[in-house]
Amino acid sequence: MALRIGVSKERMAGERRVALVPEVVARLSKQGWEVLVERGAGELSYFPDSAYAEAGAQLADADGVSQAEVIVGVQPPEAAQIARLRRGQLLISFLHVHRNGEAVTALRDAGVTSFAMERIPRITRAQAMDVLSSQATVSGYRAALMAADLSPSFFPMLTTAAGTIRPARVLVLGAGVAGLQAIATARRLGAVVEAYDVRRAAREQVESLGAKFLQVEMDAEAEGGYARELTAEEKEREQVLLRKSIAQADVVITTAQIPGRPAPQLIATSTVHDMKPGSVIIDIAAETGGNCEATRPGERIEIDGVSVYGPLHVPSQLPVHASVMYAKNMQNFLGLLRGEDGSLRVDWNDEILASSVVTHDGAIPVEAVRAAIGGTGS
Ligand code: NAD
Repeated sequence: MALRIGVSKERMAGERRVALVPEVVARLSKQGWEVLVERGAGELSYFPDSAYAEAGAQLADADGVSQAEVIVGVQPPEAAQIARLRRGQLLISFLHVHRNGEAVTALRDAGVTSFAMERIPRITRAQAMDVLSSQATVSGYRAALMAADLSPSFFPMLTTAAGTIRPARVLVLGAGVAGLQAIATARRLGAVVEAYDVRRAAREQVESLGAKFLQVEMDAEAEGGYARELTAEEKEREQVLLRKSIAQADVVITTAQIPGRPAPQLIATSTVHDMKPGSVIIDIAAETGGNCEATRPGERIEIDGVSVYGPLHVPSQLPVHASVMYAKNMQNFLGLLRGEDGSLRVDWNDEILASSVVTHDGAIPVEAVRAAIGGTGS
């Protein structure tokens, strides 16, 4: 019998993505997988059931989908979904282990082999499965558009019969994948862009996009190309350095993250008071607490005429392409799980699988995951 993949409908409020799109279902079917799609799974990302059926999928209800050997999703499964799973089944989705200890222990106790998409190592061979990069690309693009939308002023310079309009000054804090996409998008809209990051290596990438890199006297690059948390003295220097640039900006887009930690605070509320009325802060680090002290995750507030918006579920604001990119990452990951004879095969010597596994055979094999959920795990 062909191996089955079950695509469940996302149930978290605000989530509009789907784990596999019809185009990818067609490719997987050609490779010999049988794909079961929960009815309505693609509805919020504009992929109708009929498109899945045309691509070769079978439509099913939640129970039917949970019969598959491999279940794929975007958000971590809810308790009711885990209750339908059985020993030896595979589940692949975001698991955000730091904030989902209960789901992780339930998956362990159910004997499910689960893989967390966000734990795929960022090595060259895994680039095609890197959901953190694909979804951050979406977030960065959307952040620039949200900023332009909330701004009461033009982004581009305009020379018109009604006079010349100066371009907007956009400051991007955190120049990783999302920050670089925000820079590129703001530049395409005609803004003058400055950017800042604690990793010195970001300078070249920022400058190649035609933006100015703010001088930093530190380099906080840590393992895997990520940033480490700054010392108290470095944090103070950072706030002083940024204060003037923030006050001069029309728009500030913040994207700074430290893996497994709350987002670093880069903008104190007192700095927001220094900004001009009509300025805009878009804080896409809101999901992990925000880079601005004043950010209220999911809300848009105004302080002295400055809009501070910390949107949640940003990739869901572009559900078509966020799903397409996620699905292609998933297809590449699934490619690791199939032997040449078409059977399911998990090669634990593969660094990608060994790093992204969360639960297997009633245990939590990776020490960092056990530590993240704060238990003994195995
Ligand atoms: P991220 O989402 O963890 O963080 C976003 C940015 O915030 C990072 O650039 C980080 O340096 C920055 N930051 C953290 N603390 C800060 C502070 N106090 N002030 C200012 N900025 C701060 O990171 P990311 O976007 O996922 O990527 C980080 C790095 O990983 C980049 O170098 C990227 O090129 C690299 N990367 C490599 C691969 C690969 O090799 N496969 C894939 C993706 C990303």
